Amino acid sequence: MSRLRDPHFWYPGEELAEDEIRITALGTGMPFTRRQQSSPGWLIETGNGDRFLFDLGTATMRNLNALGVPHSLLDKVFLTHLHVDHMGDLSSLLGLGMVRGRFTPLRVWGPSGSEPRLGTAAFGDAFNRMMAWDVESRRSVVNAGTGWKAEFTEFDFSVSGQIVYEQNGVTIRSFPAVHCIDGPVGYRLDWNGLSVVYAGDGKPATFTVENAQGVDVLIHEAFVPAVEYAEKTHLPVEVARNICHGVHCPPRSAGKVFDLCQPRLGVMYHTMISEDLRVPVIDDARVTWKGPLALAEDLLVLNVTKARITQRKAVVPDLAWPAPSHNHGAPRPPMERDKVAQMSDWLAAAEIPVDGVETTITDA
Ligand SMILES: [Zn+2]
Ligand SMILES: [Zn+2]
Repeated sequence: MSRLRDPHFWYPGEELAEDEIRITALGTGMPFTRRQQSSPGWLIETGNGDRFLFDLGTATMRNLNALGVPHSLLDKVFLTHLHVDHMGDLSSLLGLGMVRGRFTPLRVWGPSGSEPRLGTAAFGDAFNRMMAWDVESRRSVVNAGTGWKAEFTEFDFSVSGQIVYEQNGVTIRSFPAVHCIDGPVGYRLDWNGLSVVYAGDGKPATFTVENAQGVDVLIHEAFVPAVEYAEKTHLPVEVARNICHGVHCPPRSAGKVFDLCQPRLGVMYHTMISEDLRVPVIDDARVTWKGPLALAEDLLVLNVTKARITQRKAVVPDLAWPAPSHNHGAPRPPMERDKVAQMSDWLAAAEIPVDGVETTITDA
């Protein structure tokens, strides 16, 4: 490294070495978003300059924006499933990214379902219809190139270990996850001899064990144990157990998967953290896993090389400004104002002119 790193904290702008992977938690909580815990989402950056988003749950964008990554590089999203806590901020990424210098389509990969209407392709069609007004209105004001498009790629959720992305030395595979209904998957990313598995939501499953043997980092969900969850959420313990065990898994189940896979680091997420729960959560995981363990909170930063894995916390601005695009200064695509519906004459005529304020929209 050309510069010394802070051993405890990660600050925006820190370089990534050529042989290194950096994993940042954009959200580690649940659908019930909190000021300090967004719904799940992960940014994985590889030393070759690639960036990948894995899930983009509600309120993840506030953390992603604070990291200072140019939106021109944030064009690849891999969804594990279509629960809102895993895709809730996709609309923000599309609408914001096209204004912030992503002049190419947003690409989204995701699984099929048990029937076409439940798959990622149907979701994508509906998403694009939902975004029609937002996109149409922005295209009339900013240079967006083809950045206004969102392209969805659906793959068969049921195939274990299939390659869904392979480019620039990075390979991403999917495998089925045992969550609630058919469709959810986990992902494995391989690059430069390093590997990361993000298992998505669900219970311990043979597919995870098959695909995560000896990986460097295994990110697995771990709910708060059912008894504590019932107390915190005012639910009967039977209902808490249905949620925590029936479709998710407690820390000791995540630990079981770590034990079966022997990762260099097991990472637990999807855990509603509070001061009094960190120890019970870790204790429960320790029933089954004695190896290296992290309990992820938002803005956890992992640097992964063959020699070591470090855990730090990102320190970011509360009121961040956008980072310039990675090709800042390059010619911008022409505006497309003539291609989209403009305001009706009667509506435009209702504007009240103000001296010194030029409101005609021009091509930047
Ligand atoms: Zn889910
Ligand atoms: Zn979830």
